Amino acid sequence: MSLPHFTISSARIRLTLTYLVIIMTLTLGFSAVFYNQSIAEAEQNLQRQQQGLQDYLYFTSPETVAGIADAQLTNFRGSLLKRLAILNAGMLTLGTIVSYVLARRSLRPLEEALAAQSRFTSDAAHELRTPLTAIKTETEVALRGRKLDSTEARAVLRSNLEEANKLEILTNALLRLARSSEKIDKSNWQDYKLGDILDAARARLADKARQRHVSIKLPRTGAVVHGDPDQLIELFVPLVGNAVKYSPDKSPVVVKVRPGDGKVRVDVIDRGIGIAEVDLPHIFERFYRADPSRNKTRADGYGLGLPLAQAIAAAHGGKIIVKSKYGQGSTFTVELPVV
Ligand code: ADP
Repeated sequence: MSLPHFTISSARIRLTLTYLVIIMTLTLGFSAVFYNQSIAEAEQNLQRQQQGLQDYLYFTSPETVAGIADAQLTNFRGSLLKRLAILNAGMLTLGTIVSYVLARRSLRPLEEALAAQSRFTSDAAHELRTPLTAIKTETEVALRGRKLDSTEARAVLRSNLEEANKLEILTNALLRLARSSEKIDKSNWQDYKLGDILDAARARLADKARQRHVSIKLPRTGAVVHGDPDQLIELFVPLVGNAVKYSPDKSPVVVKVRPGDGKVRVDVIDRGIGIAEVDLPHIFERFYRADPSRNKTRADGYGLGLPLAQAIAAAHGGKIIVKSKYGQGSTFTVELPVV
């Protein structure tokens, strides 16, 4: 999202003025109608009264009676104008306050989105800078030495390659996340067997699971879901991947499928480290990683997996619910509409 030269405070002033113009146009319009009607009514009344007055003030000339009536009308006009002016001045003051409060309220979601966007950009820049700095420092140190034998050179290159891999993982994750928040293109959406999608997600994680001796148990299911196949696989990869990543070696990761109410619920269950209650409300935020000390040994993560999964689930009319007990394990449930 780019809003050149756009500041929230100037937008707030503009919106306040817009609301105020609307309020004052309505108030002035009503005042004008009210004034004209009141004067027309007063003139009619005075004309009727003028005849009666003429009969009562028998010795007074018609010009004098007309003069008295005119004076009354002028008085009435003056006092009406004064009251309407006070009313409009009051409305201007009240309208300014109301407009400002309304403008603040209307712009709050935009303000929050902009703050989140700038936080995201600075977090992304920070994460990108860490491997870049490592590559730069190692290369500089290697070049500073007089001689660089092939063993040292290989070590530096290997380490740089590792950092470059991290950069690749991060930029891919950022790209996937950016794509998931773009306008949804439903042209390639089709019906897919949920079983095939889960199989594909497991195949992507096979190496990781093998390294950790973690088994991923998938159920048999005939459920069919509608959507983008790649995105649906991307939805389950971080959930099953996390279950593997945050579980002790040799522990099982079990996936269960529960159909019902026009929906299908997929539970991804692990007996891993679990998530503390304080972290639970934040784990779907971009770049959020619970308790960094626990994550130290599992550096292959940037806190972008769950936000991506959540965005894909939402785009497919579903949601993700999490239940977790610190130290005992977690269950991530994906709820999707079925065909
Ligand atoms: P990451 O790349 O760090 O795994 P995610 O967005 O996938 O990022 O997850 C955010 C955080 O939520 C993780 O850093 C981890 O602390 C916590 N988390 C997610 N899934 C699990 C799980 N199955 N068990 C324990 N903690 C988890």
